[in-house]
Amino acid sequence: MKLNYLGFAVPLFLFFIGLEYLYSKRKGKNFFQYAESVANLNVGIAERLLDIFTTTLFFGVFVYIHEHFAIFDIKAGWFTWVLLFLATDLVWYWYHRLAHEINAFWAVHVVHHQSEDFNYTVSARITVFQAVVRCMFWAVLPLLGFPPVMISIFLLIHGIYPFFIHTRALGKWGWFEKILVTPSHHGIHHASNPEYLDKNYGDVLIIWDKLFGTFVEEKKEVEIVYGLTKPLNSHSFLWQHFHFPLEIYMNFRYAKGIKAKWKVLFGKPDDLDPRYRSILERKLLNVRLHNRPATPAIRQYVTAQTIFCMVLLFGVILFEHYLNGLQLFLSSAFIFISLINSGAVLDQRKWIFYLEYARAVLVMIAVGVYYPNGWLLTGIFAAVALLTWYFRAIRRYYFRILYT
Ligand SMILES: [Zn+2]
Ligand SMILES: [Zn+2]
Repeated sequence: MKLNYLGFAVPLFLFFIGLEYLYSKRKGKNFFQYAESVANLNVGIAERLLDIFTTTLFFGVFVYIHEHFAIFDIKAGWFTWVLLFLATDLVWYWYHRLAHEINAFWAVHVVHHQSEDFNYTVSARITVFQAVVRCMFWAVLPLLGFPPVMISIFLLIHGIYPFFIHTRALGKWGWFEKILVTPSHHGIHHASNPEYLDKNYGDVLIIWDKLFGTFVEEKKEVEIVYGLTKPLNSHSFLWQHFHFPLEIYMNFRYAKGIKAKWKVLFGKPDDLDPRYRSILERKLLNVRLHNRPATPAIRQYVTAQTIFCMVLLFGVILFEHYLNGLQLFLSSAFIFISLINSGAVLDQRKWIFYLEYARAVLVMIAVGVYYPNGWLLTGIFAAVALLTWYFRAIRRYYFRILYT
């Protein structure tokens, strides 16, 4: 049997989140806010899912560059392993720093910084767009002549190490604080306090920050505030991914002259006009939300959806090699609709019922395709017809249960 064992990252990840949650409860501290944790997990589910399609693509790009353009012919040996480790970490530092300093890159990295918590769920808050930008930076390594297999091993290390530093449970690491990026260093990177902004970009080694002047140590007297300097007023999955590209678009559209337009794309995030965010919020968000707290039904429903998505994701990754195109499409579409649905339910949007309808139709198609039986197909047809006929009545009933 050919299983993709990377799928086990999902339960392992949940195990560590569970440990951290128990620790925080025991210490009487609150590291986890409900909606924040759901949002973090949902962004991570989408990234893991899309990883199935992109990992081989990235590897192919590295192989192509290595075969056609490699400057040196580097062979595996203890010296080149050390060299590659330093090279990957240095490339990571600059990729990360530029992701904060250039709008076009910040548009994909901002999602990682939206969480107002700092815990293991935040480490999952990475988008596939960010992985694409990272791949662009890492392309310099096969160009130098490092074999793609060696590079992939380090990609894995750079995927695992940062997970463990997204926590407030592990405290300071003593002597290791001098050379490694620790939870204390990375917590500062996630802070929005003025004295901590744009600091500690390193991934595994903290030496690059010390070398390039972006290092700062945690100060006991400063209470860390996590998240963006201007927090998001929404839990919407779509808003989290696309609010900044939309802000760039608005700024770009109304910027006068080539120079100003160039600055919108390649300038710093601070250079953008903050008024456009408010305009977009008014247009696209449920701004009256703050008067209406999440009902117990919302929490139960969103929790159930998130758990179901994770189980489905685990299955899809594990049995990746046994799924055909249609199965992959149906399960991915189901997961994506559910992620958008969860965020929109938390924001108490009304249009979610169309998503529910789409999801129900998707399930019916799946049943129809994989259990083609005359009676079943008639039943499915009848169910879709009933759902369409009584659309309004069912919707009213649905909102009464969920939102009141
Ligand atoms: Zn960052
Ligand atoms: Zn982080």
